[in-house]
Amino acid sequence: MTNPYAWIERSLSTIHRANWYRSVREISGLAGAVVQLDGRSTLNFASNDYLGLAGDDHLIVAAVAATQELGTGSTGSRLLSGHRALHRQLEEAIAALKQTEDAIVFSSGYLANLGAIAALVGPKDLIVGDRYNHSSLKKGAVLSGATLIDYPHCDLAALQKILDRERSQYRRCLLATDSVFSMDGDLCPLPQLLDLAEAFDCMVLLDEAHATGVLGATGAGCVEHFHCTGRPLIQMGTLSKALGSLGGYIAGSAPLIDFLRNRAPTWIYTTGLSPADTAAALAALKIVRSAPQRRDRLWQNARVLKQRLRDSRLPWSLLPSASPILCLGLETATEALALAAQLETSGILAPAIRPPTVPTSRIRFSVMATHTPQHLETLVHALQRFASA
Ligand SMILES: *Cc1c(COP(=O)(O)O)cnc(C)c1O
Repeated sequence: MTNPYAWIERSLSTIHRANWYRSVREISGLAGAVVQLDGRSTLNFASNDYLGLAGDDHLIVAAVAATQELGTGSTGSRLLSGHRALHRQLEEAIAALKQTEDAIVFSSGYLANLGAIAALVGPKDLIVGDRYNHSSLKKGAVLSGATLIDYPHCDLAALQKILDRERSQYRRCLLATDSVFSMDGDLCPLPQLLDLAEAFDCMVLLDEAHATGVLGATGAGCVEHFHCTGRPLIQMGTLSKALGSLGGYIAGSAPLIDFLRNRAPTWIYTTGLSPADTAAALAALKIVRSAPQRRDRLWQNARVLKQRLRDSRLPWSLLPSASPILCLGLETATEALALAAQLETSGILAPAIRPPTVPTSRIRFSVMATHTPQHLETLVHALQRFASA
């Protein structure tokens, strides 16, 4: 008798041996800058909740009220029985923030990328993407059946060479990139990318997951940060990071969004966003618009921590960043894991990010608007202690 599942345990031991094994950590209590980890109060530098909205009363009250009024589930796909006025209000609010004609919300950011890419390109087409792109952009490319070519991280000269050589062989071409790179914190050179797209007749899909609510004068994202508002492109984002809820979206021209409602499989064949998630995201967008001081505090904290990490002469290099994501590079996965474990014993949660997620190991810190100056100092002091130990 052979066991067709035996390979799974062998595969798991390979993952363990490479120090690539991962497991979940249980967080309890309300989301925030300080959380309970294994029953212990811990400083949270691992959250995508940049504005501290996931535990905010306005969002909680909105989610509870929507649940009481509409129920827990939306009970069907949007095109059948799952469409509510609240969904439309959220889509209009996203389009207003992004200054696009329209927007469409998906059940997650991951599904937004999969669905949009699969709808926009097919086997006759080409996708050229940054090598460091998020998994959802890469898997979307596979799902679409288009040819995928990666270019070296943020290297537009290399991208241009690829387009020179390949563009004419294909029908449509989609350039896909993160705007804020999620595991590094640096930004894609958007204006130049849009110029290239124009020159080579390419569409652009920009993943604003870590930029929405964070970058730009009104929190509209990298497009606003780079003064590219109104230029033709397709913007994707998530409701689950700075907006503190769950779900994803695509924002763009009215025909694009209408087309996606008819062709994006991960929107058509899945249940609509729950009333609670929809109402929470809508409440978050109101705060993004009406309380810019939250964004100011986030950036103030990011600037302070960056400066302190630089000034502390730590033995680990600070990776280039133009966002609230700050990373210290480590030589090996083992060292990154050891530093993360040391931080945790000091009551600080910050993840070791390792291959295969990224090419080189690092510790990643996400700054929040709700971190206090004391929180930042605690982190810096802990790092200084471990550096000299
Ligand atoms: C988190 C993330 C996504 C996925 O968004 P979810 O709403 O969490 O599914 C997509 N792209 C990037 C760059 C991300 O960081």
